[in-house]
Amino acid sequence: MLPGLYVHVPFCSRKCPYCDFYSISALDLIPLWLKALEKEAGFYAKSWPGPFETLYLGGGSPSLLTINDLKTLFETLEKFPLAENFEATIEANPEDVTEEKVKFWKTLGFNRVSLGVQSFNPQWLNASLSRNHTVADSKKAIDMVTSVGLSLSLDFIFAHPGQSPQEWAAELDQAAATWADHVSAYVLTPSPSTALGRALAAGIVPRLPGEELTSELFLLTGEALAMRGFERYEVSNFARGGAFCRHNLKYWHREPYLGLGPSAHSFDGQRRWANVSSVKRWAVALEAGRLPYEFIEELSPDQVRVEEIMLGLRLSEGLSRDLVKESETLSDLIKDGFLTPVGDKLKPSPKGMLMADGLAKILA
Ligand code: SF4
Repeated sequence: MLPGLYVHVPFCSRKCPYCDFYSISALDLIPLWLKALEKEAGFYAKSWPGPFETLYLGGGSPSLLTINDLKTLFETLEKFPLAENFEATIEANPEDVTEEKVKFWKTLGFNRVSLGVQSFNPQWLNASLSRNHTVADSKKAIDMVTSVGLSLSLDFIFAHPGQSPQEWAAELDQAAATWADHVSAYVLTPSPSTALGRALAAGIVPRLPGEELTSELFLLTGEALAMRGFERYEVSNFARGGAFCRHNLKYWHREPYLGLGPSAHSFDGQRRWANVSSVKRWAVALEAGRLPYEFIEELSPDQVRVEEIMLGLRLSEGLSRDLVKESETLSDLIKDGFLTPVGDKLKPSPKGMLMADGLAKILA
């Protein structure tokens, strides 16, 4: 089982109001980030010799990086060889995509772009999400990515205040009409610490849809995309033609991955650790010869079992039945169509996936 490599690019031109990923708009720190990354790579080069099956440049906004930044970054990443038939993904914001960049990404070896279109409806894009790009920017970026033959994944956010099922279905139709072979669609759930979360709590922006409508939109997502050949293989992820995101599957299958950069997470098969969520503190620790851990933990056998249940309930392939004790509750979940026994697996239905976290608490 070959590991995955994740690199966190923590820079964005500005903070989106619903976002709680670690990102900053101090682009003048990019040179410091590149230098510290080289140090961090030096720490791990011997213990993680590779080859790596996947590379994922996530963020933040990796598409903000210039060609020169990427050249420097890839000199550092030479320490981590990729396997034959690797998957290499770069996350991109539509407003950053240019023909020159897309061609260069391909030259570097990227074969997949995850494009944050977020919505094809200007009302949600500008009002609810307050994004920098327009729908026209997204369409242009889609054309540029597909014209050079890179595999395309489209990222969406849905369940906006006032969004109807018909409106959401129309967006999904537009997504399916592109060459994208992968779609990620997430319910808008701003954490209370974000600007949107605070505005919602203060009642100064319209309320999000209630549970019933959100569930309807969630189930509709799978049905509308299935009609265009997409399979829901994870709660929020859909692929056609077998174009599953191999990198993200490593997280859900509990396979090893190494994360570089501030706030990046890693897993070596036994231990998990995360880096501090601050470019400066991360760089200072590396400069002082220390690994910049926020935490490091070794899971007990029982914690591993709980994790396997939680992750299995998110995946259409399901979880191994021996992870769960036979009980009346389990029989009821099967009878009510949340789970289906198939061979030695329990597979969640779409409505089971919708309740994945709740089911995990009941079954663990
Ligand atoms: S571009 Fe993405 S990572 Fe950056 S602030 Fe917006 S949502 Fe967060």
